[in-house]
Amino acid sequence: MHHVPDHVVATAQAPPRLLQELRETLQRLRLGGPFYVLLWLLAGVAADLWLRAPVAFSLITFGFVALTVVRFRVHGLAEGTQEDDVRGRLDFIWLLLLVNAGLWGAASAWLLAIAPEESARTVAAISSYAFATAFAHNFPMRLRHAFGAVVLIYLPTLAALIASGARYELIGVSALYLLYVSLALRRSHAEYLQRLDLEDELRQQRDLFEQQSRRDGLTGLANRRRFSSALEDWSAQARSNRRPLSLLILDLDHFKAINDQHGHARGDACLRAFASRLQEAFAGNGELVARLGGEEFGVLLRETSLNEAFTHAEAFRAGLAADPLDTGDGIGLALRVSIGVAAFEPGVHHDADALYHAADTALYEAKASGRNTVRQVAAID
Ligand code: GH3
Ligand code: MG
Ligand code: MG
Repeated sequence: MHHVPDHVVATAQAPPRLLQELRETLQRLRLGGPFYVLLWLLAGVAADLWLRAPVAFSLITFGFVALTVVRFRVHGLAEGTQEDDVRGRLDFIWLLLLVNAGLWGAASAWLLAIAPEESARTVAAISSYAFATAFAHNFPMRLRHAFGAVVLIYLPTLAALIASGARYELIGVSALYLLYVSLALRRSHAEYLQRLDLEDELRQQRDLFEQQSRRDGLTGLANRRRFSSALEDWSAQARSNRRPLSLLILDLDHFKAINDQHGHARGDACLRAFASRLQEAFAGNGELVARLGGEEFGVLLRETSLNEAFTHAEAFRAGLAADPLDTGDGIGLALRVSIGVAAFEPGVHHDADALYHAADTALYEAKASGRNTVRQVAAID
């Protein structure tokens, strides 16, 4: 694991959770806009606002139309976007929502203050309740922001009702409804967080399974499945780039005897120690070290010719024979290995099966010639 220093975190890639918040916020952002325009026109017509105050009415209408257009023009961000950019986009969306809420609150209060028509007043009041309710249900992602929007929509309406001498039952119902909406908002916020937690957990489990399905449980190396898919992919790449690709197959010599003499647990420790020695020896960018099964291992080396791979394998074999493995109890275990090496040379045959078969044949020859040996074969289809 790489350790990420603190100053780099600020510009890290956005976590999936944040991207999901952006996706959901955006989806709901588009829905609301046209309703503000429609209900404002309806209330305006009912109150004859067009005749009573044409300039203010037009300006407010233009405001709702402009906000709707902007709401439709905000776009999402791709995965892999910087966290700061996603947060910036979310802040912008919330600014838009709060401006929209404030404009509705002000417009509805203004209408209630100047229009005596019962139908217009009812449209304005009911619309305010509806918008506040819609906010509580659709935007639970940020509790404080959403509560601010509810207050911006609702309080001016309530204040205007009181100021214009509405009946106290109506005011009482409105106040109670504000309380209900606030409680509903709190609950939907909690449910939203729970759902995100659950989805985070599912994502983590999926990643863990995915990782486990590609890793060998005993040694932590790549497993055979991962090795096979890399062999296919890298062979295809080697063919199209006309670059060399080498493969080592390693099989421990007389490993059954180690188990017989020292026990299976010690044998396992031996395999682990061998795996880390192998990993260390071949660590680099273009390599894959895998346990193919039992006491058989594979190493894929990109950009490496047959000669280079052979030299590398021979150095590893000699190093292992000269330096016993430390299996954790202080007593070194002398271990020998036989290695088959094969390679694709640039531009010729690049079939994954052929490469594997060639390395396997070379390994067989190494075993047949007395073990503790490296043999090489050029891959041909
Ligand atoms: P050779 O030089 O011909 O390869 O001899 P060998 O004894 O290594 O070969 P063989 O294939 O006959 O035996 C491999 C042994 O490896 C058999 C088994 O006891 C042991 N082995 C396979 N997988 C494991 C494992 O996960 N843990 C342990 N401790 N031993 C294992
Ligand atoms: Mg063996
Ligand atoms: Mg074997």
